[in-house]
Amino acid sequence: MKYRKLGKTGLDVSRISFGALQLGRVPQKEVNRLIERALAGGMNYIDTARVYGDSEVKLGRALKGRRKDVILSTKVIKRDLNGFKRDYQVCLNNLQTDYIDILFIHDVSTKEDWDKIVNNGILDFMEAEKKAGRIHHIGCSTHSVDIGEIMLKTGRFEVVMLAYNPVNRAIEDNLLPLTRSLDIGVIIMKPFAGGILTEKGSKQLGFNITAEESLLFAASHPDVTTVIPGLDKLEYVETALKVADSPLELTAEEGKRIIKKVKIKSKYYCRGCGYCLPCPVGINIPQLLKLLNRWEAFKNVNWAQMHLIRDEYHKIDQKADVCLACEQCVARCPYNLPVPEMMKTISRSL
Ligand code: SF4
Ligand code: SF4
Repeated sequence: MKYRKLGKTGLDVSRISFGALQLGRVPQKEVNRLIERALAGGMNYIDTARVYGDSEVKLGRALKGRRKDVILSTKVIKRDLNGFKRDYQVCLNNLQTDYIDILFIHDVSTKEDWDKIVNNGILDFMEAEKKAGRIHHIGCSTHSVDIGEIMLKTGRFEVVMLAYNPVNRAIEDNLLPLTRSLDIGVIIMKPFAGGILTEKGSKQLGFNITAEESLLFAASHPDVTTVIPGLDKLEYVETALKVADSPLELTAEEGKRIIKKVKIKSKYYCRGCGYCLPCPVGINIPQLLKLLNRWEAFKNVNWAQMHLIRDEYHKIDQKADVCLACEQCVARCPYNLPVPEMMKTISRSL
């Protein structure tokens, strides 16, 4: 396993680490096995979030007696101070710990959200907790390049979590160079674009990339510190460890070869870059379109995934049917996606 310095935190993290998003649907015994294998293989960083079902609870149990062996991060998505404080306390309880190595503000992808975080004193609270030693480092996660830049330029974050894969390279031009200049650690989520790059059915969308290639692609970028694929099966852990033990240095030519393997067939494919935001009625456009991407990949080939996608959609507050068809997002989308039309498809299908 190779390790890299996580920006100014000074932490050395494994180049491929453990994404715990899906652990909520894995039995405890299996979670213990996955964690055991990952740590034995040299992974030393695990990421979860308050909103990942009971992932934190299961991690708390699996890490009993081993807390000091891992760098643990979780994320809180609440935008009001009291809600944030409550969720943060639940994180500590669930994880059975008295400190969080990295606490992220979860998915800040609109200006409206960012304003609430600043105005409601959430960052001040986190900084006070850091001073008290209960949070060691402060991070943010985002799907928006523009909001990412705004947040990082405040100088209040040491780590950022960003989406990056062969079909979503929006962070390459400005955001990654900014992290380099500010010495901010970069953790990559969505190396498989939410599963659709590599899962059965992805060929329907024109993807033909292996999990190894996706991981290698993301981890080889010189500004990326670590990549956190979702590891809910032992075979995924083994693949991640195998890639982590490889040289992890794609040449520019090899990188281009992987990118060229993507020939997107759907005119509706959203890259999740977030340029279309904000939406006047508060629709989280990339979030909904990500579900549509997955729906297109899995419909009629994977019923379990179809159910999961529908369940996820029904938990979202601002659904596709509130779209006003104002087309502000269309004007901002670099891929000219017909977002209002896609919102209608989501309403109909999900
Ligand atoms: S067209 Fe719909 S999704 Fe796009 S900005 Fe307008 S209301 Fe939001
Ligand atoms: S709709 Fe366009 S701008 Fe918005 S996230 Fe998707 S690809 Fe990016």
